[in-house]
Order: sequence, then C-alpha cells, then structure tokens
Amino acid sequence: MSTPSGGPRPLILVSNDDGISAHGILALASALDGLGDIVVVAPQTEQSAVGHSITIRDPVRAVAYPFRIPSGSILSWAVEGTPADCVKLAIDKLLPRIPDLVVSGINQGPNAAVNIIYSGTVSAATEATILGIPAIAFSYCRWNGGDFEASGRIARIVSVRVLEQGLKADILLNVNIPDLPYSELKGIRVTRQARSKWEESFTERKDPFGRSYYWLSGTFVNLDTGDDTDLGAIEEGYVSVTPVHHDLTAHGFLDEMQSWDLEH
Ligand code: MN
Repeated sequence: MSTPSGGPRPLILVSNDDGISAHGILALASALDGLGDIVVVAPQTEQSAVGHSITIRDPVRAVAYPFRIPSGSILSWAVEGTPADCVKLAIDKLLPRIPDLVVSGINQGPNAAVNIIYSGTVSAATEATILGIPAIAFSYCRWNGGDFEASGRIARIVSVRVLEQGLKADILLNVNIPDLPYSELKGIRVTRQARSKWEESFTERKDPFGRSYYWLSGTFVNLDTGDDTDLGAIEEGYVSVTPVHHDLTAHGFLDEMQSWDLEH
C-alpha cells in the first residue's frame, strides 16, 4: 500500500483521554486506516481533565485489548494510567519502533482556550512532542453523542499533511471540529488560544455521615472575542487548528524581568 510520503509505512500511535472504549478513539483509528501501521494505547478508564499527570507511586499495567478498524484487528493495549502514561509506556515498551506520528482523541467535547491546560487529550500529544515526535490532538465540539464522521475526515486530512511535511520541533497541533456535518464545515482556520477562565462554583452536599463534600461545577467565561481565536473559529463553523508548545516561559516578559535586578 502506498503511503503519503512514498517511504516506508509510517507507524501511528493513537491515544486519548476518554478511555479505550470511547467512540472517538475508534473513529480516529478508523479514519486513519490505510495511512500506516496503527497501534492504539489508551487509558482503560476515562481520564478527562487529568491534564499532564503521570503515575509514579503505583504500577502501570497494560493489557492487550481487542481493537478492530475497517481493515481488521490492530495491536492495542488498555493501560491503567493517564494519557501521558500511555504515550510514555507505548514509546518505551509497547511499540515495535518509534512512531512517526502520535494522534490523540477524538475527544468528546471541545479542548480550546484555557481548557488546553486541563485536557488529557492534549497532554497525550504534548508528551509525544516532549519525546520529539510530531503529534496532533483532535476534539469534537459536542459533549455527548453525535456523529464523529466529519471529525474523522478532518483528522485524516490533518494527519496526512503532518505525515507529509512533519512539524516543527516541540509544537503540536490542537484541532477542534465544530458539531456540523462535513459538508457544512466552513473550512479550516489557524488560530490562537482565546483568553478565558472558569468562574468556579462548588456545589456543597452532605454524605451519609453528615459531612460536607464539594463537587466542582464552574461556568466557562470567554474573555476574548477575536475571530482569530480557537473559540471564534468554532463559533463560526470553522475547524480550529492551534499550534501549541509546552515551553511555558513568558518569553515576552524576559527583557522586563532583567530590569528587576534581582541579584543581591
Ligand atoms: Mn475527554
């Protein structure tokens, strides 16, 4: 079978944070069928919003998982761990060689603006970029149900492009697909993260022993109306593609910091 680059068959690692039995990861692995050797290594249970957490005080176990895409059964492991654990373990122990591409998702629900920080979906991709491998995170902007068909088609288009031309070191692509049929998508827009925040409100309840417990139930606030933002693109029916890097240094503030003269 020919591959986008015409070279040897690429190895593509697929992970997610919704868990290995989620509809979105089946949609993603199926959408990439034929682009290379596809291996799935994903959390056994849902790990949404775990961010970049890793497991260091417990063992990480992996068991073979029956995973079928249209062309047949593929290698797959379910991991008792986080999305970042999955990528680390896959690359160090489970895969036959270093993958050419790591894709994560397709997440059920958007991962845009400040939520990238909390996202396990994005963190699987981040871990890959830390290890020097091109990576893409995909999210379908609908919180439950729906149809991953359009998201799958977009995932294939973006993945083919990255396999063909690679990505700059340390940069991943965070892709959000609006909840629209493929024919109604307006196009693909390159965006930046919108400024946003959560206004937290913990609901307080009582357990059977009369003690209070709290359940996080915040309200998302968009502070940024730019149409060059991820949220702006999604709102207007465009697929949003944001290049993201994990260097958290505030480069634009370094010069000003020098003038603080902190030496003593
Ligand atoms: Mn999720």
